[in-house]
Amino acid sequence: MSEDGQGDPDGRGDWSRRPRPRPTPFTEPFWQALRQGRLVVQRCSACGVWRWPPQVACPTCLSEEYQWADTTGRGRLYSYSVVHRPVDPARFDAPYVLAVVRLDEGPRLLTNIIDCPFDELRVDLPVELRVVAYDDELNLYPFAPLAAVGG
Ligand SMILES: [Zn+2]
Repeated sequence: MSEDGQGDPDGRGDWSRRPRPRPTPFTEPFWQALRQGRLVVQRCSACGVWRWPPQVACPTCLSEEYQWADTTGRGRLYSYSVVHRPVDPARFDAPYVLAVVRLDEGPRLLTNIIDCPFDELRVDLPVELRVVAYDDELNLYPFAPLAAVGG
């Protein structure tokens, strides 16, 4: 990408203009953990299934008992699309990568991929959580290629 104001080498964009997620009492534990840099998802207390998005009952056994369990924050790119024409250009800096990441634990999350040249994107790419701050009270959860983490 170029530095002409259109490009975005990191693919990060300006997160602060994006619509702010609205934590609810039900999803608050997820957002609280994310503030600490941890990615938690619901795990059924009865059958052990990891599940996403947050839901009242287990899709496998219908139990309503669950814990917010820590994930590794690692997974693989399951599907992706490079968005060049966002629905709302005022809120989303294009181009950016809309993606589905399959966590090592199983759940698939709708997210973004950052810090990855578009031509290096591929299905099954190992990725890792890369927490970014939305504001003083909220973090977001894009992913980046595993090899780039800490590098
Ligand atoms: Zn279950």
